[in-house]
Amino acid sequence: MYKSAKRGSSVYESLRRAIIEQALRPGVKLPEDSIGETFGVSRTIVRNALVRLDAEGLVDIQLNRGASVAEPTIEEAYDIFDMRNCLEREVMQRLCSMDPKPIVKALEAHLKEESASLGKDSTRSIRLAGEFHILLAELTGSRILANYVNEIVSRCSLILARFAQVHSAECGVEEHVEIIAAIAEQNAEAAIEKMGAHLHSVQNRALLNPEDSREENIVEILSRYRGIDKAN
Ligand SMILES: [Zn+2]
Repeated sequence: MYKSAKRGSSVYESLRRAIIEQALRPGVKLPEDSIGETFGVSRTIVRNALVRLDAEGLVDIQLNRGASVAEPTIEEAYDIFDMRNCLEREVMQRLCSMDPKPIVKALEAHLKEESASLGKDSTRSIRLAGEFHILLAELTGSRILANYVNEIVSRCSLILARFAQVHSAECGVEEHVEIIAAIAEQNAEAAIEKMGAHLHSVQNRALLNPEDSREENIVEILSRYRGIDKAN
């Protein structure tokens, strides 16, 4: 029981990460049998992982047609960015009313990692950029807020994968530096303004460019994501 639950969550984590790092692109079919073979698990375990990802908006399961990576429409994309903006403003407001020292320390450590991977490993830097925003939400201490931000940031990766032409990191690191500075000063107004401007530029990068269609082989992609738990 324990073993199968563990393997189930590792299939879920691997698929999730492959989608967020834009290795599995919107619209790519996710056949239960080849995913099961790649990870050495049953179709039932794969199906459970896919259902969970469907609930998070990352996968689309259609009756008789199986699962594929979700393809957000342009209307959904704008809606998701609007909601993200609301949530992250709330994050800024809350963080600026808290003791900035431990918050700034955690953020700076993350930023160091982001800067280190910049220009070296694009999939890692895409993921780290998103995780900066998830960390901000976690630092508020609200699990609910953190869960919502986690979900919406993941869906933004999908939007970037679908609409952004360049396979580029989502965030400008220097913009993250400005956000940290505003939090350090407990200046909620500045923090909200910096975050708003930052998300606006992320949105522009995401939605200015036309759709990119690339052929990918799911087995090859997923074999890179086998056993990511160990690598972590
Ligand atoms: Zn960012």
